[in-house]
Amino acid sequence: MIFESLADRLQETFKKLRGHGKLTADDVNATMREIRIALLEADVNFKVVKDFIKKIKERAVGQEVLESLTPAQAVIKIVNEELTALMGQTQSHINISPKPPTIIMMVGLQGAGKTTSAGKLALMFKKQGKHPVMIAADIYRPAAIKQLQVLGSQINIPVFAKEDCKDAVKIAKEGIEYAHSHANDIVIIDTAGRLHIDENLMQELKSIKAEVKPHEILLVVDAMTGQDAVNVAESFNNDLGLDGVVLTKMDGDARGGAALSVKAVTGCPIKFVGAGEKLEALEPFYPDRMASRILGMGDVLTLIEKAQSAFDAEEAKKMEKAFRKNEFTLDDFLSQLNQVRKLGSFESILGMIPGMGNLKKKLDGVDLDMNGKEIKHIEAIIRAMTPEEKRNTKIINGSRRKRIAMGSGTKVQEVNKLLKQFDEMKKMMKKMSNMKQFNKKGKKGK
Ligand code: GDP
Repeated sequence: MIFESLADRLQETFKKLRGHGKLTADDVNATMREIRIALLEADVNFKVVKDFIKKIKERAVGQEVLESLTPAQAVIKIVNEELTALMGQTQSHINISPKPPTIIMMVGLQGAGKTTSAGKLALMFKKQGKHPVMIAADIYRPAAIKQLQVLGSQINIPVFAKEDCKDAVKIAKEGIEYAHSHANDIVIIDTAGRLHIDENLMQELKSIKAEVKPHEILLVVDAMTGQDAVNVAESFNNDLGLDGVVLTKMDGDARGGAALSVKAVTGCPIKFVGAGEKLEALEPFYPDRMASRILGMGDVLTLIEKAQSAFDAEEAKKMEKAFRKNEFTLDDFLSQLNQVRKLGSFESILGMIPGMGNLKKKLDGVDLDMNGKEIKHIEAIIRAMTPEEKRNTKIINGSRRKRIAMGSGTKVQEVNKLLKQFDEMKKMMKKMSNMKQFNKKGKKGK
């Protein structure tokens, strides 16, 4: 997962500081050296690293740390604040035009995830009650138009295309006329990509820009390509002028360098991140939450938002109540399981809970992810239990486990595994709901 090794290294570094009462200049220097190496290893642009370290160091040798009784905490706070600033401080939104339609032009190299991101963005707007239309203006890649049409039909969003037209500017222009006459308030133009930046591509994009005057030009780059993504962003920004960046494939094994360098190098904020091939896998980019995630402080807000959009509102309320009262039963577990699966893998969920990132490693022996077949088994196991057992799993002793396995046509090991998973989930959810309570109180107290 992205940032995992960076997060590990930074947490190691801070652990070493924890034992210290007051920090000496040597402590600060050693810490800065380790942060520097961690960032370079995460493929962050070296100039960005240099500036970053300079800023942290200036603050770390200052009053706020030296006079602090908990210098490690003070240093972490500074790193957290500077990481947040590095990524753009606050969330950057799409420029919505006061006069509809808002025109968004998606640009990027081939394979970056431009067409997929166009679909994801359209779906996000649709969920917000808007009426998007997508325009297929990639006239070079033969399958591109078809790909966009397939995406559109999956999410029930119209796609404007002219299969036999070889003039991307004309297609874009007519697509916008279509949007006007069909009351579409968001227009997303999928433009052509190339393997590398070339003059013809830029020329075409500039012509489209001049014709349609987009409110937003979004560059799509692949996080896995690290500093190349940053270079691509820099040249698109110089040639075309960008309003924002969509960083895709954050679910992959990238080191995070692109996410940390794009804003600092290009001045362009990351507005969204793609974290999967599914059309729901698009998240707004929050610099502060990302910084917390890197420092192992978790990202409970994103998790709660994900839960809110994936769960049925009524169900979610019932569930929250059950958690709070500690009355969450195996029946609830089953009915929630399918909903929870919509959030993504348990592994990715754990990464967002404070302190749980490390738990992931400890749980190596326990497979937290489930597929469809396993869910069928779980269903059978739960059905084979008595109502009393479902309410209070503590009473399920060895002989009950055997009976349940027989009754459900599964093995005792599977029953054990389910009970263990249920326990873990209960603990996890309790922690989550406590956090939510805590957050509410924290805000009120301010
Ligand atoms: P385009 O050439 O830029 O239009 O790229 P596509 O939209 O066709 O995407 C290229 C490949 O990347 C496809 O297989 C997509 O499913 C995949 N892809 C796009 N975004 C993501 C993402 O956020 N995560 C992952 N894992 N794959 C992605």
